[in-house]
Amino acid sequence: MDSDSGGKRENEREPHMGKNIAQKREKEKQVVTLMIRLYCRKKHGTKTGLCPDCAALAEYACARSDRCPFMENKTFCANCRVHCYKPDMREKIRQVMRFSGPRMVFYHPVMAVRHVVSTRREARKLAQK
Ligand SMILES: [Zn+2]
Repeated sequence: MDSDSGGKRENEREPHMGKNIAQKREKEKQVVTLMIRLYCRKKHGTKTGLCPDCAALAEYACARSDRCPFMENKTFCANCRVHCYKPDMREKIRQVMRFSGPRMVFYHPVMAVRHVVSTRREARKLAQK
């Protein structure tokens, strides 16, 4: 599954690793979709898939990830200082993050931990500005 956990740290910092950025994009979409699915299941009682609202949000989030020009430097679109999300979508995704973020630990420990750590770091950076 997650086979890139060992020995590849250096490459992640390489400025021209287009492949890594593509992977990061895919990973972000994957994580966002999982978080929305979890949120929808718990909050909206959706048994399979997503309710129309959450489906629209997931689609929107993935479209933003696809277009994001800052993929290389940022950690997560919902956490990005460029705030390319529309205000209502941004509010929705923030609720999803707040709800699903801590719970992701149980479902996908590696991804969740990595996300929480980088989010904290980013938040601290933003707070200092
Ligand atoms: Zn929903």
